[in-house]
Amino acid sequence: MIDDAAADAAASGAVGGVLDPEHPQGTFVLEPEVMAPLVARIASSEGSGTHRSMCPFTGAPLVTFPVSSAEDVAAAVVRARVAQRTWARRPVRERAGVLQRLGQLVLERQSEALDLIQLETGKARRAAFEEVADIAQVARHYAVRGERYLSSRRHAGMIPLLTGVRVHRRPIGVVGAVTPWNYPLVLALAEALPALLAGNAVVLKPDPQTTLTALWAAEALDDAGLPAGLFQVVAGGREVGEELVEHVDHIAFTGSTATGRKVAARAGERLIGATLELGGKNALYVADDVDVDAAVPGIVRACFANAGQLCVSVERLVVHEAIADEFVAKFVRAVRSLRLGPALDYTADVGSLTSQAQLDKVTAHVDDALARGARVLAGGVHRADVGPYFYAPTVLDDVPAQAEVAREETFGPVVTITRVDCDEDAVTVMNDTEYGLHAAVWSRDTGRARRVAERIECGSVAINDGYTLTWGSVAAPLGGWKASGLGARHGAASIDGLTRQQTVVTSRGSRFGATLDTLYGLGGETPSRVLTTALSAMRRLRMG
Ligand code: NAD
Repeated sequence: MIDDAAADAAASGAVGGVLDPEHPQGTFVLEPEVMAPLVARIASSEGSGTHRSMCPFTGAPLVTFPVSSAEDVAAAVVRARVAQRTWARRPVRERAGVLQRLGQLVLERQSEALDLIQLETGKARRAAFEEVADIAQVARHYAVRGERYLSSRRHAGMIPLLTGVRVHRRPIGVVGAVTPWNYPLVLALAEALPALLAGNAVVLKPDPQTTLTALWAAEALDDAGLPAGLFQVVAGGREVGEELVEHVDHIAFTGSTATGRKVAARAGERLIGATLELGGKNALYVADDVDVDAAVPGIVRACFANAGQLCVSVERLVVHEAIADEFVAKFVRAVRSLRLGPALDYTADVGSLTSQAQLDKVTAHVDDALARGARVLAGGVHRADVGPYFYAPTVLDDVPAQAEVAREETFGPVVTITRVDCDEDAVTVMNDTEYGLHAAVWSRDTGRARRVAERIECGSVAINDGYTLTWGSVAAPLGGWKASGLGARHGAASIDGLTRQQTVVTSRGSRFGATLDTLYGLGGETPSRVLTTALSAMRRLRMG
């Protein structure tokens, strides 16, 4: 039994409560007057086809919208380019003002955003709220730190006093963003906000399943005062993403490693920059000194937030043998008590998977592991009684190394257990993957945990937390190593990726008739001798 309350409710036909079968959209009724202004924001023309999304809670149709043609994508980038030229000349403070207002507006209108996010993804409301909170954080951070991140820097010149060097940050131009469906508000804005702050324009191609949330983000930016043309949404699937890569000056791609490789290859041919936020097979080590009762709730959340459809969620638990029996028993009990549900409120712990493709992948990974001898400790079943794509939070033990679930990203509510007898083995197991996105270490001894963290080949490691503190530390870089990506978002790292640097060197000596040419004009060996003496003196003075 996974979730008695949900199963009983399903039997009585009352799961979720707020979702009326006649109105699968739930309480936020997507009537034409709500939908039409959002859909009208799509950069599309007549006759380029349509796409119909569905509500994962019920499988019922959600919205039909036009997709963008190749010409629509090209035209959107041209409009963005025109708008960007004016925007880049606006003071940083003015651009930061848009972000300040956006951050506040997202908090104030959160119920609209939460409903839309839930209806498009099927996630639990608390996972949807993480998106709202993240965007409020990111917007505030860049609004406050923007001027500092973008300010020009002075450096020592080649000849002290006679030369001056300044390095400026210039916007790249039009940034293309291609994003998946799992955190649609975060993915629409997390990279777009620093890009806009830096003076770029953004053209976003969201996953077709979560286009409405992206359009809501566009509307919110508009209401926050962003001038027209600077943030546009093109709609559709792979072809539209491919077309966008052909026109933009930088591509910020988030998605699977397989697609990331293709996007990076094309960006390489076009010689444009690419930021790649890709997949992971994240591990969490439970050391032998943990307080198991205190640790279990956080570790459950680390594995099953957003039904595991989170790039930084944990799919491999690596547990010290000395506490494995106690930990596994208590962990499994807590997993079995998670509440599943399709409610547009905070009653459910875990929501639905977002699509049939997600359900198929999760089912295939679990079935493959079972066929190879793994044991199910919790879950392992499709919960069609709750909704068409719900899958019970699942814990697998004795998973052979060749099983798909042991090596490939599942991106679902499935976690495996591996026992180790020392920290050394834990590090070896955690690093035994092509991915390097995120990891976590749980120990009472934070010094010990930090020593383990230093040896993990990942872009981020959390100690005594799953992913929330890492994600929420918006001043620090968040990005993957190995097959998990290139570049990073958050803090100065985003600005580095979304700007070009320009070095301006000034010869001040011309005022006194003392330029480099004056030196070279001395002729013969003299310039070399003077420079040799100067370079030796600079070395002795330890000038950098
Ligand atoms: P996906 O790669 O299939 O699709 C992502 C986006 O790329 C979609 O908008 C899709 O339409 C588009 N696309 C597909 N093929 C394309 C192509 N050839 N050229 C241009 N665009 C193309 O990803 P998915 O499976 O839908 O999403 C889940 C993946 O995203 C998981 O692997 C997850 O780990 C990853 N993810 C990573 C992060 C991160 O920050 N590292 C965040 C969220 C999700």
